[in-house]
Amino acid sequence: EIYFEQVEKSYGSVRVLPPMDLTLNDGEFTVLVGPSGCGKSTSLRILAGLETLSGGEIYFDGTPISRLEPKERDIAMVFQDYALYPHMNIAKNMSFALRLARVSKSEIEEKVVRVATMLNIAHLLDRKPAELSGGQRQRVAMGRALVRDAGTFLFDEPLSNLDAKLRAKMRTELAEMRDSIDKNMVYVTHDQVEAMTLGDRIVVMSEGIIQQQGTPEELFKQPVNKFVAGFIGSPT
Ligand code: ATP
Ligand code: MG
Repeated sequence: EIYFEQVEKSYGSVRVLPPMDLTLNDGEFTVLVGPSGCGKSTSLRILAGLETLSGGEIYFDGTPISRLEPKERDIAMVFQDYALYPHMNIAKNMSFALRLARVSKSEIEEKVVRVATMLNIAHLLDRKPAELSGGQRQRVAMGRALVRDAGTFLFDEPLSNLDAKLRAKMRTELAEMRDSIDKNMVYVTHDQVEAMTLGDRIVVMSEGIIQQQGTPEELFKQPVNKFVAGFIGSPT
């Protein structure tokens, strides 16, 4: 279980997250939705250890983790802006964390090829990021996280740059992954269909405040306010 206790984030005098409590249950696929700028990426980055907390604490199974380095946190993250290494080819980009962890060469190759095949980028492994389309780069960013054997996966709008057909295919792959492996997943999206089909639980945020959380059905049938209803697409 991951628990945010009164987690706060400010940049200088600008408060992005007011004290926020949030529990992420083991094995659950949690979808985070909300308008641009409401603090979704910031929440993920805090959890991954890429931003420091301004207040509060995050616990993994009861142990405070705010002092742990990102690599000590058992988390793999897919970044909204891809954050690929421009000088490395796709295979090297995907295997970066595994090489740091001194995983054997044969195991790295097996994993990279398996994940790249699933993502339909196996034919691009020798290229550099600049030689790929936006949607291909987005799949590399996803592949780089999926090759890792982390307990928690964070996805920041991983399908936003794909065309409708590819998005539907990847959504199906993700749903299969969700059902077949017992991982914690936190997934940020603007897409209602993704939120409703992938989420075991949906958390609706606005301006750093959690408006409501629940199963897709609960939010759809009993939105607490118009904002939530609008986001979830409930009939009004
Ligand atoms: P989007 O849907 O557009 O990706 P988001 O919900 O992910 O939005 P965040 O990236 O978490 O939003 O940003 C939340 C707020 O924090 C925004 O108002 C943003 O301008 C601000 N912010 C983010 N990073 C910084 C930073 N390094 N310095 C100052 N302000 C920042
Ligand atoms: Mg964001």
